[in-house]
Amino acid sequence: MNNLICPYGRDNARLMVAFESNQWVCSETAERLAALVEAGEANGFKPRVVSAYRSLETQSAIVQAKWYGRRAVIDDYDQPVMRKNDLQWLKAILRFSALPGASRHHWGTDVDIIDQRALDQGHQLQLVPSEYAQSGIMGEFACWLTNAAGDYDFGFPYAEDAGWVSPEPWHISDVYNANKMAAKWCHDEWSQILVDLLPTDLLNQISNEQIKGFVEASMYKLEGVL
Ligand SMILES: [Zn+2]
Repeated sequence: MNNLICPYGRDNARLMVAFESNQWVCSETAERLAALVEAGEANGFKPRVVSAYRSLETQSAIVQAKWYGRRAVIDDYDQPVMRKNDLQWLKAILRFSALPGASRHHWGTDVDIIDQRALDQGHQLQLVPSEYAQSGIMGEFACWLTNAAGDYDFGFPYAEDAGWVSPEPWHISDVYNANKMAAKWCHDEWSQILVDLLPTDLLNQISNEQIKGFVEASMYKLEGVL
């Protein structure tokens, strides 16, 4: 993996390759993904990557739009969240959106993957856990993916609900390369980047001790595959 890739998502696209024409990933991740997709196709699915590399700036724009109420903040039941105080509001945002610089999508090693067949059949997809449950529209695909991903060295960083980040059974991580990025990620360096990036009221909440739990729930090394 390219050592120049920034673990905080700054200016990485030039170091990556296009996968499925418009999704950017590291070249080694692209090779593993291609093999996984091929295996899925051999099993009758149409695996498709719907989100791969996301820049620091993009993630910053998403989080700020939610923080200032320009973009909906929803709960686990798809209902709008009411803002009671800053910390509660930030936690609600983090349930579905990572802090800028602390998203695994910055690394080019992590992608969200669906079975295109559902869309071909006219279904709308929201990427919520119920769709990937056994009885959900992606249930069959999720079952195959759960079993097959490890064969191609992919893991599931958000398989369980640890309280901070909503489960994301569609999110897979190229374990070997993602672990290298997790090792490069440094809390102090990240904090410094945020100072230049975010408004003070948001920064004040991010520096809250409680928010450290979010970072630990996201920026960690996966075990068990290699
Ligand atoms: Zn994801």
